[in-house]
Amino acid sequence: MKYRDHQIQTQREAPNNARTKAFAFLVRAGYLTRENIPTKLGEHVINHLRKLSNEPSFTSHLSLPTIGNDNETFFSISSGPIQVAYCPACKYAERLELARFAKSALPYEEQLPLEKVLTPDCNTIDSLANFLNIPKEKTAKALMYTRVSDNKFVFVVLRGDMQASESKLKQQVGDIRPSTAEEIVSAGAAAGYASAIGLKEALIVVDDLIPRSQNLVAGTNETGYHFKNTNYGRDYSAEVIADLIQAKEDDICINCGNPLSVLPTNILATHNEYNFENILLALAESYHDEKGLTLHQPIAPFDVYLMHLPGKEVDTRAKAEEICDTLRHANISVLFDDRDERAGVKFNDADLIGCPMRLTVGEKGLKEGMVELKLRKGKENQLVAIENILAEISSVSK
Ligand SMILES: [Zn+2]
Repeated sequence: MKYRDHQIQTQREAPNNARTKAFAFLVRAGYLTRENIPTKLGEHVINHLRKLSNEPSFTSHLSLPTIGNDNETFFSISSGPIQVAYCPACKYAERLELARFAKSALPYEEQLPLEKVLTPDCNTIDSLANFLNIPKEKTAKALMYTRVSDNKFVFVVLRGDMQASESKLKQQVGDIRPSTAEEIVSAGAAAGYASAIGLKEALIVVDDLIPRSQNLVAGTNETGYHFKNTNYGRDYSAEVIADLIQAKEDDICINCGNPLSVLPTNILATHNEYNFENILLALAESYHDEKGLTLHQPIAPFDVYLMHLPGKEVDTRAKAEEICDTLRHANISVLFDDRDERAGVKFNDADLIGCPMRLTVGEKGLKEGMVELKLRKGKENQLVAIENILAEISSVSK
């Protein structure tokens, strides 16, 4: 591949919309446009990754610090749209809305008799807890939905201090939407003062902490009043008892008891599909230095960045072309920088694009039958006799 065929456009500056170093370098190195569209070079590396993905060793070649589970693989990156709950201790990882965590019940209490109390203007958990001067943990929160498939009224109960995960709820009951005011009234509930007590024809679903919680304050289905001391089993029961709660930072890992972290991530793979755009971004985030990308074999789009420095007496480009052919015949992939640019410009671009090796064909070296080899991650140049290039490349790429 020749530089000019690829229409590579590198940039001096990071784009001002870059939220990660990875994106900044991919744009600067000419793999992505500022609008996050792969360029010709970007398409090339994505196709290269796609081909490599047929090999069983693909993920070990990537060598990325991923997190995940049997179904999905994620990469933590600050711009990532998917929140994942992750346990650094045991590596448990799950999408936040489906993540499980260890809940602890409040200390057991003897069940007290139901007591109806006046609670004016207490249609939220906060106002209720304030008014009665109790912790939110001692209240029951009610959520009301209508099941899409059969218009069944779905009444959900969880502890007042917790947030429901609609994804977990949907796993239990199917697709749902918030109930309308009319549906709430016709089910016998009162918005802001709802409880499962006395409802008819409702599918009652409770979080699994509710049967372990005694004497919660809950609605009466009568505006302005709540019940003290509602108890699951005595006062109402449910068709479904399941974990319905959205995990959050520092919740306790279900497997090992250590605190969970919540990380923004990109998805890299599901069990049967890779996301190569996200893999490229993850590679750029993991493999760069201050000058550009530092991709390794075999995931780098080219093994060798070959360039010539225009000469006064020797046709360096013709010699570089010859070397390019030799490398290709040996199945070494080459990006040939065939532009008549200054050395500094080419060196900068070679560093940005990040091929593992750079070969420089210059007049001075050629007079002695030598070219210059530099590893992208190395500091030193090394002179190599032209006839030894293949041997040298294969020995350094091991
Ligand atoms: Zn854990």
